[in-house]
Amino acid sequence: MSGKKTNILTVLIILGLVAGALFGQFLLYDGDPGALGDHWTKQAGDIILIRPLMLLIIPIVFVSVIVGVTSIGDPSKLGLIGGSTLLYYIVTMLIAVSIGATLVSTLKPGDLSEEARTSLTAGAAQQYESKVQAKVQQAEEGGATSVGQAFLEILKQMIPTNVIDEMARGKTLGIIVFALLLGLALAAGGETTAPAVRVFEALFDAIMRLVLWVIWLTPVGVFFLVAWTVGDIGFENLIGPIAKYIAVVLSGLFLHGVIVLPLILFILARTNPFRYMWQMRRALMTAFGTDSSSATLPVTIESAETEGGCSKRSANFVLPLGATINMDGTALYEAVAVVFLFQLYGIELEFTQLLVVVMTATLAAVGAAGIPSAGIIMMVIVINAVNTSLGGDKTLPLEAIGVIIGVDRIVDMCRTTVNVWGDAVGAKLITKIAPDIVEQREKTLA
Ligand code: ASP
Repeated sequence: MSGKKTNILTVLIILGLVAGALFGQFLLYDGDPGALGDHWTKQAGDIILIRPLMLLIIPIVFVSVIVGVTSIGDPSKLGLIGGSTLLYYIVTMLIAVSIGATLVSTLKPGDLSEEARTSLTAGAAQQYESKVQAKVQQAEEGGATSVGQAFLEILKQMIPTNVIDEMARGKTLGIIVFALLLGLALAAGGETTAPAVRVFEALFDAIMRLVLWVIWLTPVGVFFLVAWTVGDIGFENLIGPIAKYIAVVLSGLFLHGVIVLPLILFILARTNPFRYMWQMRRALMTAFGTDSSSATLPVTIESAETEGGCSKRSANFVLPLGATINMDGTALYEAVAVVFLFQLYGIELEFTQLLVVVMTATLAAVGAAGIPSAGIIMMVIVINAVNTSLGGDKTLPLEAIGVIIGVDRIVDMCRTTVNVWGDAVGAKLITKIAPDIVEQREKTLA
């Protein structure tokens, strides 16, 4: 996309975000939080933006990982790239979760007056029943609410038995594994498999063109989605006793996204992190507007490879995997939210329990799908684990989640942005060890 067109699109997306917030607050919000339900603005956002993006996800993940792997070629190099990518994901998620745990235990947003506690917890059970319970039950049936089961579920997804079934159910991890293996086989096949490689390369090119078309729907899509979010929650409900919790999550996300990740990028890749952040702005704004790192993936890949200067070898592989398992924002948020709820219900957590939070919140973030509110359901894993480690003396009821569900969408917009930013930083770092062949040649010539 030309520079001028990109600028126009950026302005339009910003306008969409701001106008959506104003429209939601002044024309939709009626003083009753949570009353909008499946309002037409949500449906419009869904049809205009989310569904077209979702349509591209499975083909993009499949084709881009194959192209990424075949362009890496050498299997030993793939090991280095894969290993470095996983190391980066784990280390940054652990940093994020530690920032969250430290902030929430020092600032103690849940240590409130009796009156504030009562006002916050009063409607929790009802909120939980109406908005969360059914999803938690579904997750329980799927076996994903205890640490062991969640771990097993991730392993099972990594070794699928039927890739078409995984595709049909929108499970990306299995597709990535299959695409990776197929990519390796295609690379190993030399001349025999070269035509198939070219087919995948051409397909990738075509899908990217589709992405470029869909991107133009972003301003209108985010307008409706943000209007619905703000119209449903209402800005005034972000103040009051819950404000401290929101402030702690947002400060943590800010620290991680604007200081820690940029520092990592600067130190390891000698890249100007804020310039890169600007180059990735369309992906970051789409993440903010859609609440979904999976839906944003097509835009993330497009921005990273065009403006962001990431190599195909890196971005095609690092970004799909990142959208599936690397969620720094979600990990940080899980830690803050769980410790906050324990504080609110008067249960003091010791250092050992905080360690349980750190480990399980990371696992919950890996297991969370890149869709809206996935994090809040995965929180059940963390709460169950901490409850077990408390030995049954005191337990936090799951209905406590009802306290934060009302404002979750706004928090989700911010954590999803950090999730996508974390993936983007990874792609830029890995570009250093896996530049595209053309770039390498250019460098040698220069
Ligand atoms: N919405 C987040 C994402 O798509 C996941 C979550 O934390 O709920 O990245």
